[in-house]
Amino acid sequence: MTRLGLVYHDEMLAHRPPGLEPEIRDYHARKLRLLLGPLVATSPWKHPERPERLSALVEHLRAMNDERIAWIEPERADADTLLRAHTPAHLRRLEALRGRSRMLSIDSTAVSPGSVDAATRAAGAAVEAVNAVCDKRVETAFALVRPPGHHAFAAHYRGFCLVNNVAVAARHARAVHGIDRVLIVDWDVHHGDGTESIFAADPDVLFFDIHRSAPFYPGTGPMEYTGRGRGKGTTLNVPLPAGAGDQAVLAAFDDILMPAARSFCPELILVSAGFDGTREHLACRFSPAVYAHLTRRLQALAETCAQGRLALVLEGGYHIEPMRRALEHCIHALLDSDVHLPPIKPNRTGLPAVRSACDYLAKAVPGLAT
Ligand SMILES: [Zn+2]
Repeated sequence: MTRLGLVYHDEMLAHRPPGLEPEIRDYHARKLRLLLGPLVATSPWKHPERPERLSALVEHLRAMNDERIAWIEPERADADTLLRAHTPAHLRRLEALRGRSRMLSIDSTAVSPGSVDAATRAAGAAVEAVNAVCDKRVETAFALVRPPGHHAFAAHYRGFCLVNNVAVAARHARAVHGIDRVLIVDWDVHHGDGTESIFAADPDVLFFDIHRSAPFYPGTGPMEYTGRGRGKGTTLNVPLPAGAGDQAVLAAFDDILMPAARSFCPELILVSAGFDGTREHLACRFSPAVYAHLTRRLQALAETCAQGRLALVLEGGYHIEPMRRALEHCIHALLDSDVHLPPIKPNRTGLPAVRSACDYLAKAVPGLAT
């Protein structure tokens, strides 16, 4: 079996959030600076969610020329597949945007003529990553996609996201591959508000999210929110302070995610893999190397309880060089489970926040107390 499948299609580069007239551009840049802070640091202003984010990563990975990697071309996700995570009205709204160029919301979610095809291709890539690991064509799969997905809700777009790729993939796994329980780990530094909302009442999907705490975008994800209805206890949020550091995210994985996941016993692990926690993103000061450690932990967990089924889906990351280094650490860990893990930076800034989330969730979530 091939070690790693990389799922990618050039159509995802056709999403080009519009170039704006200078006066509109400056107006939006001001609003964006308030909302998104360091993501608008580029000068002259470019939309942060630009094709180079993905093309630079893909070029780098292709140049590795590693025989343990298989490149897989996905189809676009069809309507039936998208409807497992989205409302019919949302699909109609997207369809109406096909071929158009528009700024959709104050947070700079925008479409160009190729965006709807790119978004359905991205969801199709996440679905194909699930197919590849469930059909045992590859040991692990990574869907290299844009636009990202974890801020998209069932009924609306948000935060550069049109379709929630990881949610569509999770529902596809349950419907088509007979997977009963899915764990979604969101290590993107922004809270995955769309994913949380879609699975809030779903007891068969455990959603674990580390993120920089409010008021950082999108301003949601307090530890006290653990889901609703039958899904209460299957949403785990670990908000971290600015500059939290590597030790905090590793402690969140070891002390909260791992016991919760072992109790939940997922049959498939999906990762909302954003690489925007690094110093340059002014978020949580994760080092690129920490993503190797996170990857290794999820591999081990997948081996223990999910027959090794692990699929990652790209989310955010807007400064290309640190994003490339972080992805490289992740990919090397995926390719070689014996690879020596790089050192992380000692930094205890975020540990008290993890401790308080751990204490709170141990009381609120059955199965987490150890
Ligand atoms: Zn993000």
